[in-house]
Amino acid sequence: MVQIKSRAIPSSLRRVNERTLVSLLMRLGHASRAQLAKTAGISQPTCGKIIDELITLGLAHEVEDSSAARDCAGRPGRMVQLDAQRPRFLAIQFDVNETSFALVPVGAKVEDCWNLKVPTTDSAQGWLKQARAAAGKLKCQDLCGVLVSVPGIVDERAGKILFSPNLHWSETADLPALIAQVWNAPVLLIQENRAAALGQLFADPSRPDFLLVDFGQGVGGAIVESGRLFQSPLPMNSELGHTPIPGNRRQCGCGAVGCLETKLALPGLLRCFAEANRGQPETWEALEAHVRKQGVRPWLTECLDATAGVIAGSLNVLGLRYVVITGSLAQLPSIVVDHLSAAVQGGALWGRFGEVTCVGAPRRRIAGLAAAGIDRLLLPLEGERQMAGD
Ligand SMILES: [Zn+2]
Repeated sequence: MVQIKSRAIPSSLRRVNERTLVSLLMRLGHASRAQLAKTAGISQPTCGKIIDELITLGLAHEVEDSSAARDCAGRPGRMVQLDAQRPRFLAIQFDVNETSFALVPVGAKVEDCWNLKVPTTDSAQGWLKQARAAAGKLKCQDLCGVLVSVPGIVDERAGKILFSPNLHWSETADLPALIAQVWNAPVLLIQENRAAALGQLFADPSRPDFLLVDFGQGVGGAIVESGRLFQSPLPMNSELGHTPIPGNRRQCGCGAVGCLETKLALPGLLRCFAEANRGQPETWEALEAHVRKQGVRPWLTECLDATAGVIAGSLNVLGLRYVVITGSLAQLPSIVVDHLSAAVQGGALWGRFGEVTCVGAPRRRIAGLAAAGIDRLLLPLEGERQMAGD
């Protein structure tokens, strides 16, 4: 754990400045001290002191920039970048079918790259056994935190999964306590779509307002507003997948009948595909080949239009016009997201006189987890330390 000495513990304003500079470095990759001060709107002396501290803590370092103008002493210019070598965090993607592990430095990469993947078991003890095996393979010391992307409805402050329609055993398992038996570091649970939304913000900071909708074993989302994750009164929002679709009689894992995700989450989508195309196997490969060859056929139009209605309704409520689609729909030929985008444009009120856009993007949960870890564990504001169980 990085120890910021008491003398160096900044005022809340200084901490905000630290976060701003680290966030800028995450987005820019590298920058000179002068560029950082100017972009952040911080005085050069203050910026310089914070950068010095980050370097002392090993969170950032300087590299020569031969392309920059030399200073008055004829030395090459120097650029600051976050440390991309030493693993500070262990990122875990706890998913319905698979659990993935990655060691992550402060300077995380934009795209996900997992070191190890194992099938997710169906019990807490089985999962603990797998986590121990993973720890034996991933050599890491002095971790600042274990950052876990989890599906379902998650109380991130309490570190508890409240409801997980597709992984019910995790509701009664104390995941942070299990992890604490394996790794000696603070544990953060972060709802998987919120992690992906933070990662998307990291990848494209020019879009600070968007709704992310993910299609995987379930359908869910997250809202980013003015460059920050939206915080709702309840520990849940953007649960688009559990909106009932008229005429849909499929049973959902949440206990209700007719939820959107029974048709648009991957298992439901494959079932729709197989039912509409007799003789086709219920597999991802067959579905992808079918869409590539035949485009968006009526059975898929019906599924996408139902989804577009739910997304358009969300945009009308939230006052947003930019949607990022991740997961299985984004992995199908681009005609699928294009169709969805046109249907959302038609259903959202902003689309009557302005532009409403849906774009496909990869999941960037590791970058999002790292961003959350830096904020909540390395540079926490007053009151945030408790969130990590410190
Ligand atoms: Zn449901």
